[in-house]
Amino acid sequence: MRFLDMWSPLTFVGYDIASKEHVDETLRELFGVKPHLAVTLGIAIASLSAGLSGFVGTAIVTTSIACAGFFFRIVIEQYFKARKTVTPRRKLIRLLFVGSMVSVLTSGLSTSLLFYAAPPPTQMLVMGVVCAMVQGAAGRAYMMPGTALLNISGVLGMLVIAAIARGNYLIPPFGLIYFAFLANFVGKMVANRLRQLEAEQTARHLFQEIVEKNELLRVTNEALAAKAHEDPLTGLANRRKFDIALPSILETAQKEASTVSLLMIDVDHFKSFNDTYGHQAGDECLRIISRVIDRTIALRNGLVARYGGEEFVAILPRTNEAQAQAIAERIRTEVSLTNLHDVPNAPPPQTISIGIASTPGTPSTREAMLQAADQALYKAKKLGRNRVSLHKDEHRYKPRMSA
Ligand code: GH3
Ligand code: MG
Ligand code: MG
Repeated sequence: MRFLDMWSPLTFVGYDIASKEHVDETLRELFGVKPHLAVTLGIAIASLSAGLSGFVGTAIVTTSIACAGFFFRIVIEQYFKARKTVTPRRKLIRLLFVGSMVSVLTSGLSTSLLFYAAPPPTQMLVMGVVCAMVQGAAGRAYMMPGTALLNISGVLGMLVIAAIARGNYLIPPFGLIYFAFLANFVGKMVANRLRQLEAEQTARHLFQEIVEKNELLRVTNEALAAKAHEDPLTGLANRRKFDIALPSILETAQKEASTVSLLMIDVDHFKSFNDTYGHQAGDECLRIISRVIDRTIALRNGLVARYGGEEFVAILPRTNEAQAQAIAERIRTEVSLTNLHDVPNAPPPQTISIGIASTPGTPSTREAMLQAADQALYKAKKLGRNRVSLHKDEHRYKPRMSA
């Protein structure tokens, strides 16, 4: 803000950099009538002193003027309190300026009239009231310094005129020195106020920046965590995610006393596929097969993961052996019918073998389920591949004996 702009009567210091709450609070303070009540009471007491000294007419006139000014302040405070949220701040600031000028006119006029018309004891009281008035205005001047200085110079100016009219030539230099002192005081307060508002604005910006950076960090962390559990080639869950999820799925099944099945899926003769059609075609083939498996498993609210190489594993909650077998058959058939013409070197459809382990035939522990499904897969391979095998009684899981 330029120096001269700061002293314009309609300038509201820090209007552009203060927070909305801060500006509202300041406006509430400026519209408040308490300081005006104090001034009116001061003038009323000085008027009473004039009245008691026989200047009844003067006392009535000055008290009436002061009360009129106070009444006007009450009206504009009420207007401020009842304002609509859409009332522009500029309009409120203009109203404050008008209010302040009315106060200058009424309190300045009543004090100068009292000073001019009343005897020395009342004049002393008037001086006290005027000093308190301008001091109070200076104390609140950091918000609208231009208006405040206009107010101070108005009140002091009228007192000086009254003093000269009474032939008191000591008041004018006193008024001038007092005004210079107050103007200097107001200048320093405004500078401090601006520094405070700028610091608050910087703090607000920094806080906002921290909030935004934290949000970015949170989103990035979430993305990273998701990536850490994803297989980059197929986009399926990776083995790490499967290892984390499996125990809790088995635990839930145990609590619910529901069945759960585990499918171990392996692409047949995939080494020779790679040798014949190339590694790139192999990758594409794995992607296509993974989509076929995922589609079917997702329908059963299961979790499928790439377990490693050309092996996949799927866990199916609330699925018994017969249901698991039907699902596995469906996956196997779909894969064997899946067209790979778009894959580099256009290989023919490929086949998969699937081993199944289900509770309650297999104990619902991670090791037992994985070992049983692996044994069933081995059986499917041995029986000629492109088939689904159950982990039957003859292969029942036996815990490994420790050496
Ligand atoms: P089986 O029917 O007995 O499972 O025979 P197989 O050839 O599929 O089994 P083997 O374990 O001998 O070979 C697996 C092959 O899978 C070897 C490897 O080149 C291939 N493979 C593993 N991971 C990937 C991969 O990410 N991309 C490609 N293109 N090939 C892979
Ligand atoms: Mg294989
Ligand atoms: Mg394999």
